[in-house]
Amino acid sequence: MAELEILLQLPKIGGNSQVRGRISMEPSKEPRDDPGQASEPGTQRQTHGFQAEVRQLLKLMIHSLYSHREIFLRELISNASDACDRLRFAAIANGALLAEDPELGIRVDADPTAGTVTITDNGIGMTREEAIANLGTIARSGTAEFFRSLSGDEQQASRLIGQFGVGFYSAFIVAERVEVRSRKAGEPAAAGVRWESAADGEFSVESITLPARGTAVTLHLKADAREFADPFRLRGLIRRYSDHIGFPVRMRKEGEASLEYEVVNQAKALWTLPRSEIGDEEYRQFYQYVAHDFTDPLAWSHNKVEGKREYISLLYVPGRAPFDLWQREGARGLKLYVRRVFIMDDAEQFLPLYLRFIKGVVDSSDLPLNVSRELLQQDPEVEAIRSGLTRRALDLLARLMKEEPQKYATFWKEFGAVLKEGVAQDHANHAAILPLLRFASTAQQDDASTVSLADYVGRMKPGQERIYYVIAESIAAARGSPAIERLKEAGIEVLLLADRIDEWVMGHIESYEGKRFKEATRGDLELGGLTSDADRRQRDTDLKESKGLLKRIKDALGERVSEVRISERLRESPAVLVLGEHDVSEPMRRLLAAAGQQVPEAKPVLEVNVGHPLVKYLEARADAAEFGELSQLLYDQAGLAEGVPLGNAPEYVQRLNRLLVRLAAPPAAPT
Ligand code: ADP
Ligand code: MG
Repeated sequence: MAELEILLQLPKIGGNSQVRGRISMEPSKEPRDDPGQASEPGTQRQTHGFQAEVRQLLKLMIHSLYSHREIFLRELISNASDACDRLRFAAIANGALLAEDPELGIRVDADPTAGTVTITDNGIGMTREEAIANLGTIARSGTAEFFRSLSGDEQQASRLIGQFGVGFYSAFIVAERVEVRSRKAGEPAAAGVRWESAADGEFSVESITLPARGTAVTLHLKADAREFADPFRLRGLIRRYSDHIGFPVRMRKEGEASLEYEVVNQAKALWTLPRSEIGDEEYRQFYQYVAHDFTDPLAWSHNKVEGKREYISLLYVPGRAPFDLWQREGARGLKLYVRRVFIMDDAEQFLPLYLRFIKGVVDSSDLPLNVSRELLQQDPEVEAIRSGLTRRALDLLARLMKEEPQKYATFWKEFGAVLKEGVAQDHANHAAILPLLRFASTAQQDDASTVSLADYVGRMKPGQERIYYVIAESIAAARGSPAIERLKEAGIEVLLLADRIDEWVMGHIESYEGKRFKEATRGDLELGGLTSDADRRQRDTDLKESKGLLKRIKDALGERVSEVRISERLRESPAVLVLGEHDVSEPMRRLLAAAGQQVPEAKPVLEVNVGHPLVKYLEARADAAEFGELSQLLYDQAGLAEGVPLGNAPEYVQRLNRLLVRLAAPPAAPT
């Protein structure tokens, strides 16, 4: 694990706080009294500047989001639902918080005449300080990433808003002014706060008296967004985007001046329903809610485990990699519930690191309600659920691969490099992981198409005993590697790898279906039954005839190489550098060195193609200096072909130029 941490700088396990609150963030500007406002005693109206990132974000919301404007409603209802979840959670320790008003819920009120929409919840609420921190800054790291991820594509922007935890600010897509009134659960009526902003770089807060706990967010709609004050429109949107959040969302009954409210969503935690009662569309919508993603998932798996251990899981495979997939602090893990009570987001203990792309929910009947992240790390119950969910997730992928190859190809493109880590991290599940792997291959014309190990084994030649692969800087470079010339000529398939983790991953695979893996750039090619008697005879003759040449080259190169020998890999190229079976490759060595881990340089073997015209030309050089210079050139070129940078590029160029000049010069006239 440590080696991987160093190499990839993967997300650290644990360390996320339970609630992604923002209370620790300082507002960017010191609060000041608003001079324009006569400050009543006790109300303490103050104006604050938004954090710079928020200002930038607001600009984006206001000026460039025209499609999918309705996402604001999903985000605000999602916040209201989170607030209810958090209160229910807090009430486990302190029942009094819930006592006066025990039924948690959300209300949406629209006033078409005034052009306003209000989303009200009786959840946890905010204190004045919390309102300043939570609605004035962005806590999560990665905001810069957010802006970088925006490619001017609006659809993508709206997709990213939820993921980056900037949902509240989406109110300004449709509102010219937003008012928030909030009172924290457990605080007295006088501890209410009123927050307001017109997104002009500032917001104001003042203390007010509020009769009940919870939060009300009122949007004063822009002229061109008045459609969102239409109750009919709002109902449709709630059913579409918020049907399966765990709390009822109520609206006034239809009809003029009706004061009665009715529930407009299903308000049942989706995962608790039997599979037969849930439609695909509902599964998709629920995914968008849990994953904060605007796109559809590729697949899902919904299961209930009963018996000694009881839990429900709903796992999704997203269709696109989130921006923070490779970030150490990136959000990952499942939403954890215990007996329907929300406990935490991003519970990463329920899946291994290599399945960190999986989104969804796990609801355990056995864990204690007061479970914390620390406890999760040691709980044997969690360990058991984790191994169950790991198998479910791998099964889900296997099913996707079999039933929907097109979607599986998308999955592999987005998450293959992550799943691959499982080869090194999870030996126990090798049998399930290896069949899921995809590789570029010499059997495919283009670098983007991939094959499975089953495909490879099915195409193996009679007498072939190894699964050959080569790792290079790019798939194109792997395809052109001199080390596989002979294999390609013989029609033997070679897997082509180019991810920076590939050397590390492949180091953990022994065999697939009894066939051992063989890296074509290391040691002996182990051609086994693929070599004919004629090959062997040719090799013996070459060996006898080239002994002197090999020794001369070795003497010329000295300590740069451990050995010079005849190659059985080459066809078109004059020479190739080959590593020992357990040597650390040059790119890997550089990666480790960058991470502060010093590994000695491996001394390669230089293999030469004795039939190559350049080698014959070399053999004919009697002059020792000329011979040495040419040998060095061969060596440098062999390294270059493998992506090893030249130690001294100008010297290489001069050597090459001297050779070219010699070759271009007319033969000296006889004297
Ligand atoms: P996220 O929900 O991902 O944290 P948001 O921008 O949607 O990001 O919300 C910012 C923060 O504001 C929330 O984390 C929460 O602390 C606070 N907040 C927003 N809406 C409410 C609400 N209705 N009740 C209580 N707190 C809220
Ligand atoms: Mg939110």
